[in-house]
Amino acid sequence: MVSKSYPVSSPDIGELELKYVSEAVKSGWVSSIGEFVERFEKGFSEYCGADYGVAMTNGTDALFIALKALGVGPGDEVIIPALTFVAVPAVVLHVGAEPVLVDVHPEYWCLDPVAVERAITPKTKAIVVVHVYGHPADMDLIMEMARKRGIKVVEDCAEAHGAKYKGKTVGSIGDVGCFSFYGNKIITTGEGGMTVTNDADLAAKMRFLKDHAMDPNRRYYHPEAGFNCRMTNIQAAMGCAQLERIEALQNKRAKILNWYREALSGVDWISLNPRMSWAEPVNWLVCALLSDELAARRDEILAELRSNGVDTRPFFVPVQEMPPYSRCRVVGTEGDSTPVTKRLSQTGFNLPSSPRLIEKEIGYIAGKHLRITEV
Ligand SMILES: *Cc1c(COP(=O)(O)O)cnc(C)c1O
Repeated sequence: MVSKSYPVSSPDIGELELKYVSEAVKSGWVSSIGEFVERFEKGFSEYCGADYGVAMTNGTDALFIALKALGVGPGDEVIIPALTFVAVPAVVLHVGAEPVLVDVHPEYWCLDPVAVERAITPKTKAIVVVHVYGHPADMDLIMEMARKRGIKVVEDCAEAHGAKYKGKTVGSIGDVGCFSFYGNKIITTGEGGMTVTNDADLAAKMRFLKDHAMDPNRRYYHPEAGFNCRMTNIQAAMGCAQLERIEALQNKRAKILNWYREALSGVDWISLNPRMSWAEPVNWLVCALLSDELAARRDEILAELRSNGVDTRPFFVPVQEMPPYSRCRVVGTEGDSTPVTKRLSQTGFNLPSSPRLIEKEIGYIAGKHLRITEV
């Protein structure tokens, strides 16, 4: 088995995807008009418990169009977690606003409400909550703070399709939810994204902006400068197939995490994905955190795993450590630093999480960990 390699992520695409995609191609509707786009928007927004879905080119564009539609722009501050994929701060800069980088909670790794409260100023226009690595943020506390002050809440659910917070599906709790269907996400359309919302006006505004801002009642009349962030019917066809299989895909991902838990039970220098009592997380990527004693050896451990064919990813780099964001305001629960983000970023990594893995393979991967630390 040693010669085999185990990628962190690989999509599970089968016969149904092939069938729908070939139907889309044969129909001639290969651009963004076609029955699969509407079907995917309707089906996926329903899955999220939201009234409207607007399909997009990718998850980054979904965030961009959401912020634009909410009127976020120059002079505004947007609170985001310091531990996130870089699309979030990049999009805030691209709409002309300022990202404010806020520390995450040590137990579930999403925005810490105590730090969010400290970060709010009269300029705060929106909060982008990221349900990172499949675990939901503590939405009630954040929604309460935001509603009191008229601040908009965007949920970035790119890593958390179907996760639940106190029984509610993520994406349907804030003003708008943004999803990605990139190849490594819980369901994929190759590239793709969607925004979901319960607000009819906001949905119409996003639909307008993503399609060249054309007046719905007057063809080729564009009252604003718009964008082209349309998903194709071919992508949506794949999305419809993945959506029909989403429950099975989720169950398999949950099983994989459980296999890791079993294989690593009793190993006290490693802990896996969090789970708060109020949350029903989904397993996007299997996450492992090293204990403090082993933290300094993470990169050595990852190199050792790699030499055994086991692919890993370190956790995200704190946003403020990258040049475009080095001058952003940073807020923690006490000072102007993000110690929790920093520690997670240094000690966390992702293990092979492909839905096609089998139990024996996870035993092998977990066995490698044990072997390394016994050295
Ligand atoms: C993947 C991801 C995105 C971006 O999605 P793309 O489809 O790759 O543009 C945004 N936010 C988070 C948290 C992500 O994980």
